[in-house]
Amino acid sequence: MELNKRQKMIIEITKESGPITGEQIAEKLNVTRATLRPDLAILTMSGFLDARPRVGYYYTGKTQSQLLTDKVKKMTVSAYESIPVVVQESSSAYDAICAMFLEDVGTLFVVNKDSVLTGALSRKDLLRASLGNQDLSTIPVSVIMSRMPNITLCHSDDLVIDVAKLLIERQIDGLPVVKETGKGLEVIGRITKTNITRAFVELAEGEFE
Ligand code: ADP
Repeated sequence: MELNKRQKMIIEITKESGPITGEQIAEKLNVTRATLRPDLAILTMSGFLDARPRVGYYYTGKTQSQLLTDKVKKMTVSAYESIPVVVQESSSAYDAICAMFLEDVGTLFVVNKDSVLTGALSRKDLLRASLGNQDLSTIPVSVIMSRMPNITLCHSDDLVIDVAKLLIERQIDGLPVVKETGKGLEVIGRITKTNITRAFVELAEGEFE
């Protein structure tokens, strides 16, 4: 985030004289309080300054990289997850391929009759199954999927940064977002490398949010 000259001057003033009112900052800079309003709004929203009612503005002492870290630590899976694409474990490998194309996803999550998560299926799992001269319409996905309890998963309130670390460590493309039900884990979302890439772009563009 690039601060303009006046914003930098405001930071210097609050460092030296804070807490200081908007009126007093305006006086020091020889401008009206109204002129200053957008700059003060940007500086408080982005975390450089804090404002206390009837006290004034003060410098938080946070560097740009600390502010970015604060923001990353507030990004939870719930804000970035997508709708999950699930298949029944009795579905055939052929049906799974069709689902991947129709739903435009690279990973399918596999559930049993009670809609409980039992596995994950990637593109390479399907490619591997197609290497032999087998009829893909007769192979159930339960035979070729990765299965519980070895599925890496996450919850809606987990941090995006922790999911990103798991994707790297485990060398996988996505995780199911799950919720505990009486019967087991229900798949309520998915978070993939694409979601993380989107989060990364938003982080850079939504500078003042
Ligand atoms: P691809 O195989 O298309 O490159 P991945 O890298 O995601 O896709 O998958 C690699 C392997 O990891 C596959 O065998 C897949 O079944 C498995 N896998 C995919 N997602 C998960 C997950 N969330 N937890 C555990 N294993 C997974």
